[in-house]
Amino acid sequence: MSDCIFCKIIKGEIPSTKVYEDELLYAFRDINPVAPVHILIIPKEHICCANELQESHKELVGHIILTAAKIAKAEGVADDGYRLVNNCGAQAGQTVFHLHFHLLAGDKFDRMV
Ligand code: AMP
Ligand code: ZN
Repeated sequence: MSDCIFCKIIKGEIPSTKVYEDELLYAFRDINPVAPVHILIIPKEHICCANELQESHKELVGHIILTAAKIAKAEGVADDGYRLVNNCGAQAGQTVFHLHFHLLAGDKFDRMV
């Protein structure tokens, strides 16, 4: 997707602070953090949101969550706890339409659910 900012970040056309990368994923620090640790984990494949996920993406989604747990350990927040958030759709607060998971930690968050 040529006009997607996260695709541009993956390609290095927009700068980012990389935290992790492999053949399937890219993770970087959110430009507008809402917690002391705020990392975005995104697939390299452009998928607009959870609504667009197919059966064929099962392994990819599992890999995202396992990688989030590894990043949390590497950031030193795994034991205290972290929140993994995916906003799907405008009403849920999604503003960038390339699937991403927010890894949030370093604060005690209010319960939403
Ligand atoms: P969402 O509102 O769930 O779609 O999350 C999009 C996130 O992307 C927000 O937390 C933004 O702060 C973040 N964001 C937007 N542009 C950039 C960028 N260039 N670098 C890092 N994070 C960004
Ligand atoms: Zn994209």
